[in-house]
This record gives sequence, C-alpha cells and structure tokens, in this order.
Amino acid sequence: MDLSLFPRISLGHFPTPLEPMTNLTALLGGPRLWIKRDDCTGLASGGNKTRKLEYLMAEAIAQGANVVITQGATQSNHARQTAAAAAKLGMKCMILLEDRTGSTDPDYTDNGNVLLNRLHGATVERHPGGTNMQQQMELLAERLKAEGARPYVIAGGGSTPVGALGYANAAFELIAQAAARGLSIDYLVHATGSAGTQAGLVAGLHAANSKIKLLGIGTRAPKEKQETMVYDLACRTSEHMRMRGGVPRESVEANCDYVGGGYGIPTPGMVEAVTILAQAEGILLDPVYSGKGMAGLIDLIRKGRFAKDENVVFLHTGGSVALFGYPNAFDLPKS
Ligand SMILES: *Cc1c(COP(=O)(O)O)cnc(C)c1O
Repeated sequence: MDLSLFPRISLGHFPTPLEPMTNLTALLGGPRLWIKRDDCTGLASGGNKTRKLEYLMAEAIAQGANVVITQGATQSNHARQTAAAAAKLGMKCMILLEDRTGSTDPDYTDNGNVLLNRLHGATVERHPGGTNMQQQMELLAERLKAEGARPYVIAGGGSTPVGALGYANAAFELIAQAAARGLSIDYLVHATGSAGTQAGLVAGLHAANSKIKLLGIGTRAPKEKQETMVYDLACRTSEHMRMRGGVPRESVEANCDYVGGGYGIPTPGMVEAVTILAQAEGILLDPVYSGKGMAGLIDLIRKGRFAKDENVVFLHTGGSVALFGYPNAFDLPKS
C-alpha cells in the first residue's frame, strides 16, 4: 500500500522512537512492554494529532485556505497542535472550546493547552458542554466566507478519512520499525477518543496484512458507541485509501471500562498510571487520554489478559501539556 499519492506536508519528526519499557515490564512481571513515542512528534510538544494534521493541512493548502477552524474540549491537544501547524504555515487559527468537564479551576480553563493555543496566536472561543460544535464551526466558516476569508474546517480530533491516513501510515512505520529489530509485536494498545487514531491503525494494519492485535482504551463513549465510531471511520478511511472489501469488524476492539466519571474527569487508575510511568520510566503521560489508556493496560495486565512472553506496544499519543491543567489531580509531596 502506497500512501505517497496523498498530499502531505511535513510538520513533525518521524519516525517516532520505539523503546522498551524495561522497568515497567519488571514491575508488572511481564508481558514485554514497549512504547511507541508519538508524544515525540515534535510539533508544539508533540502528540498524535500531528500525523493527522500533515494530511489535513495539506488539504487546507490545496484548497487555498487562509484560516483554519477547529474544536475540542478545553484542554484539547488537537487544538494546540492545530494552532502550531497554522502558525508554521502562516494561516490564522480559530479554536472553539467546549466545556466538557465543568471545571472552573483557572489552571484547567487557561493554563496547559489553552495557554499554548494563545501563544501560537490562535483565537479561543468558549462554548458550554453539549453544544453542537461541528455546527458552530460551520456557522463561523460561513461568517468568515461572507467577509472574504477562505476558511478550512477541521473536525474535532482531526478524525476524518483524510486525517486518519496519518495513522494508517503510522501502522506501516511501526511494522517496519519492528521488522528492522526482529521484534514480533503481539498487541498494540492506545487511548481512543474521536476515533481517528484507531481507525487509521485498523486500516493500515489491515492493508499491511499484519497480525498485530489492536486494542483501544476508551476515554469518553461507552464501548458500543466507540467501536461503531471506529469501525465506521476505518471503513471510510480504507475506501479513501482505495482498499477493496473494507476492514473486518472483528479488527475493531475498544475497552471502555476505564473512562470513570466521564471525559476529562480524573480516575484513581489514571493517577496511578501517570505516577508509575513518571517514576519508573521517566515518561510523562496525560490525565485525559494516555493516562487512562495506560491505566487500562496496567489493569488488563494484572488481570492476565496477556501472556508473559508476548510483546505489547503502548502507543503514547501525547498530551502531557494537559498535566498543567490538572495540578490538583495528583497528591504529591509539597516539599
Ligand atoms: C486526541 C488524543 C487521543 C485520542 O485520539 P483520537 O484519534 O481522537 O481517538 C489520545 N491521546 C491524546 C493525548 C490525544 O490528544
């Protein structure tokens, strides 16, 4: 499968490293744990949206856009990476943020990703939880068009067939990296939200005829809804890639047992996972996505889901900037 036909611009540092987590492996007594460092994609402190934006921003440029509009939760990493990409490409960026948590902590509302959005020169507009954000973006685009601007709207999380190409490509990158070091990967585990990451990986792994089993750990929706979102987008992505026959429904698995009280609401498992990774591996996860993803992986390891000699790769999707929006979630010594 050749993705070079699709327009793409360079925004990140690729390939991202694939590293062993020897301390975490020892701590949990196996399986063999690895980490694919998509927190190191380079753009404005990195994260998984960079791969999607390489394709989405190429499309924006091809359409002659001079302003990009996107949306997300208050501490959206997607918004921050979009703001940085727009800055690099000399476009304006308008970000609509939805209050999905109700938190009034000033660190949550204005620090972390929100601070960086503004530093990259993006405008930030707030909406209450439950707003139809896609509709708000389209209304804004209409207003801008009427004023003579050329807006390009990026769906939440960049999760469209175009954005998901970034993760079809990431699947090829990982397969090549593993082959180069003689590593046979049994499982790939990651946090799933707006579904573009998992959908792209499903399409890419299927296109490459890979035996790697993929598991998404949900961060927002219940299992059935999450799997439907991923499957639908994976089918549309594979169609966009001109693959025949779609993707098998069985290749989509999401475990949504680790969402806790809701999207962006801290859980004890997330706090434990973020703390363990920080202290055993020197790696920063995030409170909304990768922390809950790792909480799921750790719990499933403890429940015996993986054989001790299996190789399990955790895809680190980034997000550590959001830690600065949640300083009180962690009970840390003050001195
Ligand atoms: C957006 C995001 C995810 C989820 O990826 P989707 O493609 O939206 O499913 C996971 N981790 C981090 C840090 C994110 O910002």
